[in-house]
Amino acid sequence: DELWACDTLEKAESFIRSLPTPISLANYVAGELELPPSPETKFIDSYEPKTGNLLFRIPCTQEADVEKAIGHARTAFRTWSKTTRAERSRHLRRISELLQEHRELFAVWESIDQGKTIARARVEVDRAISNFSYFSTYILHEQTAARMVDGVALTYEHRSPAGVFALISPWNMPLYLLTWKIAPCIAFGCTAVAKPSEITSMTAYLLGILLRKAGLPPGVVNIVLGDGPTTGAALVASPSVDGVSFTGGTQTGMAIRLSTARQIRKRLSLELGGKNPTLIFADAMGPATRGRTLRVAASAAFENQGEICLCGSRIYVDRAVYEQFVAEFAPYVAEKYVLGETMGAVASLQHYQKIRGYLKLAADERATFVLGSVPAAMERHDEGGYWIQPTILTDVSKDSALQKDEIFGPVVTITPFEDEEDAISLANDSQYGLAAVLLTNDAARLRRVGERLEAGMVWANCWLVRELGTPFGGMKDSGTGREGGEYSRDVFTEVRTLHLAA
Ligand code: NAD
Repeated sequence: DELWACDTLEKAESFIRSLPTPISLANYVAGELELPPSPETKFIDSYEPKTGNLLFRIPCTQEADVEKAIGHARTAFRTWSKTTRAERSRHLRRISELLQEHRELFAVWESIDQGKTIARARVEVDRAISNFSYFSTYILHEQTAARMVDGVALTYEHRSPAGVFALISPWNMPLYLLTWKIAPCIAFGCTAVAKPSEITSMTAYLLGILLRKAGLPPGVVNIVLGDGPTTGAALVASPSVDGVSFTGGTQTGMAIRLSTARQIRKRLSLELGGKNPTLIFADAMGPATRGRTLRVAASAAFENQGEICLCGSRIYVDRAVYEQFVAEFAPYVAEKYVLGETMGAVASLQHYQKIRGYLKLAADERATFVLGSVPAAMERHDEGGYWIQPTILTDVSKDSALQKDEIFGPVVTITPFEDEEDAISLANDSQYGLAAVLLTNDAARLRRVGERLEAGMVWANCWLVRELGTPFGGMKDSGTGREGGEYSRDVFTEVRTLHLAA
C-alpha cells in the first residue's frame, strides 16, 4: 500500500530510504501476488541507475514455478478464449482507465527503476495506456475477409485465439514494451505468462497489482519475475506454451530459435536489435529546415540515453554539408541533452561498463570525440550512478565495431557520404534492418531512397511517429514478424479458411 501511494519522485525516494532492508517484488500468478513457492528460489538485486543504490530484490522464478504459471494460463484460456469481443474490449478499456488514473505512480517508478527522466517515463506510460485503449477498440471493429470462388463456394477466414503465450520484454522501455504484448494477446483471446527484464521489473510488478484491481479474471495474465537463463529460457522452451512474443537482443533471439527448433507448432515473433542509420542530405541543412534536421537527428540519437532499439546511432551526412553539420550538431546536443535534467542514467552497471568499453575502443582507434569522452571506470554499484555524457564520434572507420555493433547508449558516429548511392550503400551496410531516418526536402528522393533502405520502419523528417495499426518490426537480424493492428492479430490468432458450397 505504501509503495502504491508513491506518486511523486519525492515520496518514492523517501519511501526507499525508509526501508530497513530492500523489499522483494512478487510474481502475479492466478490473480494473486506471491513469491515463487519453490524453496530453492534465489533473489536478484536490482539497483537504482541514478544513484547506484540497492533498490529492491526480485525472485528468480525456477522452472517448476514457471510451469505452474503456464498451467494457470492454460486453465484460464479455456474460458477467456470463449469470451465475446465486447467483453474483452471492456476489460482492456478498464485497464487503460486505471493506468490513466495511476499514470504518475507508474512514471515515477519507471524513472527510478530504469534511469530515464520522468518526462520520458510519462511519454511511455501514455503509450502503455494507448496499447490497451487501441486494442480495446480494434477488436470491436475487426473485419473478416470473405469472397466467392468460381461461383461455387463462399470462402471466408475464421480466426481463433492461438493459445498460451510467453511474452518477454527488455529493460529499455519496460512498461510500454510489456503492455505492447499483453494488450493484443488478451484482446485476441489468448492468455499469457509475461516476463519483464530482471533489470527493470518494478512496473511489471505494479501492473500485476493493477490487473487485480481491474478485475481481470485470474490466470489470463500471469507475470513471473526472473532472469533470462533460468526463468526466460524455461518459459520459452515449455511445450505447454503455444507462442512466444519476444523483444530483446539478437543473440537472445537466436537462443530462443535454437531452444524451440523442434517445436514447429510454436509461433515466434522476434523483435530484436538495431543499428539504425540517419541520412542527412545537403538540402536539409538549408536555413528553412536546419532546425528540424538538428532536432530530429538529435532526438533519434539521444532520446532515452540512446536506449531505444530505433535510435539512429549511425549518422551519415552529405559531404557538402558535413563540416557544417558537425559544427552545429555538437553544441545543439550539448545544450538539449543535459545529464540529470533532460537525459537520464543508463540502465545498469553492466551496461555502463559495456558502453564504456566501446568508448575506450574509440579512443584506442583514435576516433575524434566531438562531444563526450571516455567515462571513468566503474566496478562497484555504489559509485554514484551510471552516468554517460552524450557522445559524438567522427573519424571512425566503416569497419570499426563502433559502426557495426549495437552500443545501445548515448553514442553516435558521424560519417560523410558522397552521393545518394553511397548513402544507401552505407546505410544498408549492417547486419541489422530495423529503422532508418531520412532528412531531406526532396519528396522524390524520399521515395527513391526510402524504398531501397533495408529497414522495417523508415521515418522522413521525423522519428518515432507511430500509429499502433502500422506494421512494426525489423528486417535481417532485427527480427522476424511484424506487430501492430492486424499484424498483431496474425501473431495471436490461428486462421482457418472455410469453403462453403451450397
Ligand atoms: P536481452 O535479450 O538481454 O533480454 C531481453 C529479455 O529476454 C529479458 O527479459 C531477459 O531476461 C530475457 N532473456 C534473456 N535470455 C533469455 C533466454 N535465453 N531465453 C528467454 N529469455 C531470455 O535484451 P536487453 O539487454 O534486455 O534489451 C536490449 C535489446 O533489446 C537491444 O538489442 C535492443 O535493440 C532490443 N530491443 C528491441 C526492440 C524492438 O522492438 N525491435 C525494442 C526494444 C529493445
